[in-house]
Amino acid sequence: MNYYVMTLFPEMIEDGMNTSITGRAIARELIHLEAVNIRDYTTEKHGKVDDYPYGGGAGMVMQAQPVYDCYKAIEEKMNSKPRVIYLTPQGSTFAQPMAKELAQEENLVFLCGHYEGIDERVLEEIVTDYVSIGDYVLTGGELPAMVMMDAISRLVPGVLNNDMSAETESFSGNLLEHPQYSRPEIWNDKAVPKILLSGDHKKVDEYRRQESIRRTYERRPDLFEKAVESGEITEKEKKVFE
Ligand code: SAM
Repeated sequence: MNYYVMTLFPEMIEDGMNTSITGRAIARELIHLEAVNIRDYTTEKHGKVDDYPYGGGAGMVMQAQPVYDCYKAIEEKMNSKPRVIYLTPQGSTFAQPMAKELAQEENLVFLCGHYEGIDERVLEEIVTDYVSIGDYVLTGGELPAMVMMDAISRLVPGVLNNDMSAETESFSGNLLEHPQYSRPEIWNDKAVPKILLSGDHKKVDEYRRQESIRRTYERRPDLFEKAVESGEITEKEKKVFE
């Protein structure tokens, strides 16, 4: 998986991604990351990359030329045109199915906006996907790009020590994951559910499934309904919660 991030703040991307699990994946070359500074491509002699919006209004707009030239320099390294994801509150909302789909790509280019956004004309030229991470407005696209890369990287084979954990956890289907416990057996007068100490794997699996269904019912009734519709939860299992 090769990530190219077009940004005005490459150090933010590098600091965030070179930490913890993604950092290890980069060091092990399971993931390749290049944070490319859009400012390096401006032809303006003072290094300016933004200007006032035509028609007036608050804030500044990132200009088309440096973004386009930055993209062209990245594209030159590839044999085919890559997916180019513009992080924007106006995009489709990012969720696990999109992470799964994007994890199949060999190259992904992320374009991070700042200020009031980017000149529409260059977006029309280069962007293939408009993606939001939720209905709120951030100062820039760097955190959204990192959110996406983190979620996608976990699905790249070898990145997690145990590839199974990505398959069983929340959103792998429509169910949320069961609660987790670790040592000690009693903490703050609270005991770990006895069944988890029984060593009976079949019973542990049944208990976890029950808890997973309960948690989805209580916290995400919308997903619970979807799981019933898709048959992931049986009619019998549903009845327990009626
Ligand atoms: N004027 C823009 C609008 O109303 O749609 C918002 C610009 S925002 C202040 C600056 C940049 O932050 C955007 O270009 C985008 O790259 C990024 N951004 C902000 N919120 C985001 C979100 N929820 N999801 C993805 N990117 C976001």
